[in-house]
Order: sequence, then C-alpha cells, then structure tokens
Amino acid sequence: MKQIEADVVIVGAGGAGACAAIAAQERGARVVLLEKAKVVAACATSFAGCIFGAGTHMQEERGICVPKQKAFEMMMDHNHWQCDASVVRRFVFGSADTIEWLLDNGMEIPIVATKTEREDEFATAHILKPCGPGHGGVTLVQEFVRKAQEQGAELFLNCEARELLMDHGQIIGVRADWQGTELVVKAPSVILSAGGYGANAEMIREHDHYELGENLFLLHEFSQIQGDGLKMAWAAGAKKTGMGPQLAGYVIKGPGIAGAAPWLVLNQLKICIEQPWLWVNKKGKRFLNEANVMNAPFVSNAIEQQPDKCAYVIFDRNCRDFLATEGAINHMDLWGDAQIKNLDAQMERCIRLGNKDVFICHSLEDISAQTGIDFEGLQKTVARYNAFCEKGEDEEFGKNPDYLEPLNTPDYYVFRIINNFYGTIGGIRINENMEVVNNEFDVIAGLYAAGADACNHYGGFRPTYNINLAGGTLGWAINSGRMAGYAAAKYAIEKRGQ
Ligand SMILES: Cc1cc2nc3c(=O)[nH]c(=O)nc-3n(C[C@H](O)[C@H](O)[C@H](O)COP(=O)(O)OP(=O)(O)OC[C@H]3O[C@@H](n4cnc5c(N)ncnc54)[C@H](O)[C@@H]3O)c2cc1C
Repeated sequence: MKQIEADVVIVGAGGAGACAAIAAQERGARVVLLEKAKVVAACATSFAGCIFGAGTHMQEERGICVPKQKAFEMMMDHNHWQCDASVVRRFVFGSADTIEWLLDNGMEIPIVATKTEREDEFATAHILKPCGPGHGGVTLVQEFVRKAQEQGAELFLNCEARELLMDHGQIIGVRADWQGTELVVKAPSVILSAGGYGANAEMIREHDHYELGENLFLLHEFSQIQGDGLKMAWAAGAKKTGMGPQLAGYVIKGPGIAGAAPWLVLNQLKICIEQPWLWVNKKGKRFLNEANVMNAPFVSNAIEQQPDKCAYVIFDRNCRDFLATEGAINHMDLWGDAQIKNLDAQMERCIRLGNKDVFICHSLEDISAQTGIDFEGLQKTVARYNAFCEKGEDEEFGKNPDYLEPLNTPDYYVFRIINNFYGTIGGIRINENMEVVNNEFDVIAGLYAAGADACNHYGGFRPTYNINLAGGTLGWAINSGRMAGYAAAKYAIEKRGQ
C-alpha cells in the first residue's frame, strides 16, 4: 500500500480534470491527478473541439452578438427549468472569461462558428485549433496535464479510483488501485471528473433502455468510462440527477461503413443519410420534418421514440442522380466530396461485406421484403408523400417544398439508421460552486464534481444536447473543471490553516 497527501485529488484527467488541476494550482493547492487510462488524453475530450462561449471578445470582433442573458434564458428554456438555474447562470456568465483563460494558458482558438447554420442557432462554438487531422481537445488535455505536472502535480496513470474516504460526513481522501498496488491519497478536497458512464453497457441498458453496439453507437472507444465517478458519489450520499446518453446523431451500422475508430466514417454513405428526403419508421410511417435532419440531437430523440429505436432513409434513382450531378444538399466535409458519383458501387460493396443495413431495392414490395418495413404502411405513406410532392406542400410536417422529391423511380436506395452518442451527461447533483450535495441539498464537505459526471445544465429526466448553443458539453467540462478547481483549492487551503 502506498499513501500520499495532497490538498486536492482529481479523479479523471480528461478535459474537466485537466482544467481543474490548473485552476487549483492557480490558487496554491497541491494537486494529485488519478487517471485510469495508461496514457494521457485517452478520453472523450480528445475527440472534441468546440467550446461554448457567450459574449466573448472573439464574437464581438466578428460582429457576432450573443448576449449572456439571452444565452442563459435559451439554456433554461431548453431544459424547461428542470435544473439548477444558479449553476447554469455561473456557467453561461463565466464562459467568456474561461475562453480568455484558455487563451492565456496557450490554447489557440482560431474559429467561432455555428454548427448547422440554422437561423435559430447562436454562434457559440469556439473551436480549438485542430491537432493534425484530429480535434483540438487532445492538445488541451495533453498541454494542461503537462503544465500541471511541471507545476508540481503528481500524476498516476493506470490508476483507478475506487472509493471516497470519509470521516463524519467529510471527505478525507480517495482509495485507488494503481497498477495492482493500493494507493491512498489523503486530501480534504476531491473532484470527481471521471467522464460519465458511456461505455458501461449494463448502466446504459438499465437506465436508458438501449443495447450498446446494437441500437446505440458510442462515438469514442474508451472502455474505462464506466460510471465510476457517479457510483463513488452516490455511495457517499450524493443526490442523483437526471442523466442519459448525449445523443448526437445517427449512423449506419455494420461492415463497410466505419473506419478504425467506430465514429470515423470513411465513405460518403454518411452523407446519404443526412439528405432531407423521405424518412420512415419500421411501420412505414413518417415521423419528422426531414428538413431538420442536421439538428442531430433532436433527430436522435425522434428516432428513439420509434419502434426498435431505428429509422429508414429512402430515396429513388432521381435523387441518386441528383447526388451525382448537383451534390449533397446537407454536407459535412468530414465524409468526403459532396458529389456522390458511384453510389451503387459503394452500397454494393457494403452489401457484399455483409452489411444488413444498406439496401438497393427494385420496388416498394422489395423494400418491405428486404428491410422488414410494414408494406401497407409504407405504401400509404409513399402515396400520401408523393401527393404532397405533386402539390408542393407537405401537409403533414410542413417541410420546405424544395425538398419534396417524390419516390417513383426505382431503384430505391434504403439505409437503416440507429442513434449514436458522445458519452453521457448528468448523474451527480451539484450547486453553483460545483460542490456535491446530498438528498437534503446539503453540501458533502470536500466533494466536488465536474464535466460529464455533473453535466446537469441540459436538465430533467431525459437531458438533450442543445445544438443551438453548440459546445455546451466540452464548454461545461472546461468551465466546471475550472470552477471546481478554484473552489476545491480554497476549501482545502482553509482546512490546512485550521
Ligand atoms: C467524437 C466526440 C466529439 C465531441 N465533440 C464535442 C464538441 O465539439 N463540443 C462539445 O461540447 N462536446 C463534444 N463532445 C462531448 C465532450 O467531449 C464531453 O462531454 C467532455 O469532453 C467530457 O469531459 P470530461 O472531462 O467530463 O470526460 P473525459 O474527457 O472523458 O475524461 C474523463 C477521464 O476520467 C478517467 N476515468 C474514468 N474513470 C476513472 C477512475 N475510476 N479513476 C481515474 N480516472 C478515471 C477517464 O479515463 C478519462 O480520462 C464530443 C464527444 C465525442 C466522443
């Protein structure tokens, strides 16, 4: 057994943990970082790059007006006031200062943008300079952890925090497994920033009613994100909050689609499922205005409500030809060229490789036979939809008439899609100082939480990422980590002086 002492112990050296370390050191605390992975930056933050900020000088310089009060109100409206308004207020009103803090700490943020260019979206996304072909989050974690170590922090890799140590209701440290050795870190302050429970299939099944890898696809590959922070906090008496997968869009599963990492789609078929043509569920019924398919979190919510939590994207040869000549209507550079010239060949390759979610069909009957979509339902929907196309008016969901393309020229191109998610959000109830509270809303002295573990500003029983205020989860990880670092250091140093 090894025992050491610190002022602040941080569980999880991802985005929130790395920021907490630097902030705690700014206030003079001795910091210990416990990280379950064998290397630095094996975490969700490494895949992210877009940070929420309201009222930043960078927005002002670009003539973008994002009043803090308005952003606060939008965030509260989004979560129906089902979360702590003081927490949200501190996050939103402090976000511009945190962007300055990142710049002061050497981060480069060359772009301020919207994610979807929708009219109702604010340009809150401050995008970290990409690291090679990857996202800038990896630079942030690596640099901040390096800097924290340089300033005296002790980092334990391959070290799994397992239990909070308490005395008379107060935190006194953490017990961890460090490469097979028991490590006890005695400290008055502990910050939990272990990244949620996104890779824990059992928690996802029990709490969210999905089968991980079957009808829900995790967009990062780190198996160590197992809900450890939540479990430790709850065992110490923390109040639970609403929590759930941070649904982030939809994918085609199976061979021929994904690259080395499951989120890395290597071909243009991803573009096909983002076009605003006809979408139906397994009953053959339409269930959304397909013009909105780029608002990924909301679309994911709609897919979740369908039978088998899946949807089917269908278009015909005319649309295929449109993709080949005009190019995609919705398009992200990530997936390749907007013009798709060899769709049949790309789909046939997937089918040859055994993909069961990509179909080329010769008739509506054939669609039903291959996919299992209810034939009568599909027939009815297509007849009705084609009539809308002829009339130029979507009487069902009011889709922009520009996207009303009839389905009448076989072959038909069909994709079965399921939801994906970035990780999870929520679980530990905190107050505006990032202090963890119990069921009586009293503070558990010395315990703080940040990042995905305490990501409660999406609110309620079923939190949903808000793309209209983009960057809200990475932004939260950074802001909450920073705030937790300051608060935990202050508490620990006061304790030291007692
Ligand atoms: C592909 C992708 C793209 C994304 N893009 C964006 C974006 O652009 N904007 C945005 O706002 N959000 C984005 N997100 C979400 C965002 O990345 C996360 O919400 C945020 O980074 C979470 O930060 P965190 O510090 O809480 O968790 P993480 O960064 O995952 O860090 C948690 C750390 O805790 C460690 N850990 C776990 N258990 C233990 C334990 N028991 N003991 C010690 N250590 C432990 C883990 O190993 C990990 O290093 C994206 C996510 C993905 C996957």
